Amino acid sequence: MKPATLKYCPRCGSIGYQYRERKFWYCPVCLFTYFHNVATSASVIVEMEGGVLMLVRNRDPAMGMLALPGGFVDPDERAEDAAVRECREETSLAVTDLSFVGSWPNEYEYKNVTYKTCDFYFRARVEGGLEKVRPDYSEVAAFHIIMGDEIETAPIAFESARQALRAWKALRDKESAEGVWLPF
Ligand SMILES: [Zn+2]
Repeated sequence: MKPATLKYCPRCGSIGYQYRERKFWYCPVCLFTYFHNVATSASVIVEMEGGVLMLVRNRDPAMGMLALPGGFVDPDERAEDAAVRECREETSLAVTDLSFVGSWPNEYEYKNVTYKTCDFYFRARVEGGLEKVRPDYSEVAAFHIIMGDEIETAPIAFESARQALRAWKALRDKESAEGVWLPF
């Protein structure tokens, strides 16, 4: 079910419920308006072993493909806190000292509903290495480290994550050229 396939107004039950401007539903009978707003997600770029920790998704969308630890921001939650929480839930890793890399738009299809999202990406400091990773196997099939030169070819689930990794690599390359190596 795409947003535009809803047929009846959920308030008055009239037929002819309309999806407008890729943003909201509108009932021409009772004027009920409902915004299908962009959802926010937050993910963490965790550096390990000279690369970035990625998780193999074990559910749709994009089952079997690689994603960064992350998920949707809950109501009344900061994006930073969502990133930390999701990372802990999916990997058991405790990350701190987040810094914003950027945000990119994305589409997330779940049970035949398409959600437009704005995906936030952060770098973070992590305690420990691979030995500390304890994936939540209800959401994660495995984990994998990808190197900077694999960003373009790796089977990454969401294009926004690839864009974030490109931005991360540019930051890393700049730091390296300047002789800066932050302890992330
Ligand atoms: Zn109505």
